[in-house]
Amino acid sequence: MTVTVRFAPSPTGRIHIGNVRPALFNWLYAQKQGGSFILRFDDTDRERSTQEYADSILEDLTWLGIKPNRIERQSDRFALYDAAAEKLKEAGLLYACYETAEELERRRNRARALGKPPVYDRAGLKYTDEQLEKFKEEGRVPHWRFKLPNHKDGDPFSFERTEVHWDDVIRGRQTVDLASLSDPVLIRGDGTYLYTLPSIVDDADMGVTHVIRGEDHVANTGVQIAIFEALGANVPMFGHHNLLTTASGEGLSKRTGALSISSLREAGYEPMAVCSLAVLTGTSHAVEPAADLDALADMIDFTGISKSAAKFDPEEVGHLSARIVHGLPYDQVAARLDALGIQASEAFWNAVKENCNTVKDAAQWWPVVTGPVTPDIADEDREFISQARDLLPEEPWDETTWGVWTKAVKDATGRKGKGLFMPLRRALTGLTHGPDLKSLLPLIGRQKTLDRLA
Ligand code: GLU
Repeated sequence: MTVTVRFAPSPTGRIHIGNVRPALFNWLYAQKQGGSFILRFDDTDRERSTQEYADSILEDLTWLGIKPNRIERQSDRFALYDAAAEKLKEAGLLYACYETAEELERRRNRARALGKPPVYDRAGLKYTDEQLEKFKEEGRVPHWRFKLPNHKDGDPFSFERTEVHWDDVIRGRQTVDLASLSDPVLIRGDGTYLYTLPSIVDDADMGVTHVIRGEDHVANTGVQIAIFEALGANVPMFGHHNLLTTASGEGLSKRTGALSISSLREAGYEPMAVCSLAVLTGTSHAVEPAADLDALADMIDFTGISKSAAKFDPEEVGHLSARIVHGLPYDQVAARLDALGIQASEAFWNAVKENCNTVKDAAQWWPVVTGPVTPDIADEDREFISQARDLLPEEPWDETTWGVWTKAVKDATGRKGKGLFMPLRRALTGLTHGPDLKSLLPLIGRQKTLDRLA
């Protein structure tokens, strides 16, 4: 069996770090198993889905390192859903209902008041010809429900406990009692499909072997298994992972702009920081930056995903990213430094990287080397700086020059520690903090150093 997984976002907004958790679990699993990953745009909601959002999702996934083997959009596949709906109708498993939302709400309230579960009573199966005629006259259009197999044979009104089981690859054995659920609406009054049927039809048609998704879909899975079976389709394996929440337990909505993948990218964070945080939070593995997606795949397996919420601190993206940046070798950033307009050398990158939280922070250190710098020299340090200037060694300079020079300055002036180094740093860089001067000095060079000390 070739593993086939899918990530099925609705292109109705930008995806955020919580959305890429299932994308990555699927991708990493497919990679590990030599399987295939389908990106399937769940765009049956034509009003809210846009091409721009679909493009942005693909761009975000690509940036994270996910390269779908196949891309599909459900809006191209209505014929398949129509055929499946027809098949269910013919089998008497998809039936028309005419209740308005208010009527349904009233019935649910009544059931609750009587202490009964607010499960749909299948009134739609009992309409008389007169009622149907009246609905027609009133211009009512039906919505369509799937008749769950949760009743005694031949009698849809005698509900009986009907357990559906599956061995969830993350949560272990799961049980849903279909009698506790209302028959799901598969087609709305306006003829549009809810997510359920297209998803099942596609999973079956595309040979999806594993459906890995958030635990908010656990209850759906019971229903979906029943529909797979009604369609005579193979039931895939399921895995439901915990959802990322903020520390206060709040879920991340698509509109949490700050955590959208595009905003994290624009902030300059490393994709592996985002991937590591999205995947490792709420697992048995410590949250730490993985070197690449292969390494990340080796760090997790489904049984290590916790059953409780995956709480995370959004600040952590920045911390993980900085750790990655501090360890990046020059050859991995050269092109990016170039794109920032910095003609940087390996020596420059090595000098500044510890002072960069993002690669683009390097741009702020570039003028410190090339100038212009406005030296910051306090009046009381003028004499000292002038003495230091006179003691500046001749070139060639290397990483030992700073030590040789400051030793000479110390001997001549008697200054030491902060009193020695801080005025030099402020004069040379115009700043009170920054990269090691031992590394910066040879990059700045003797002439510019003389100019800044003047
Ligand atoms: N579009 C659905 C969602 O984002 C897909 C769920 C699924 O993976 O089946 O929740």
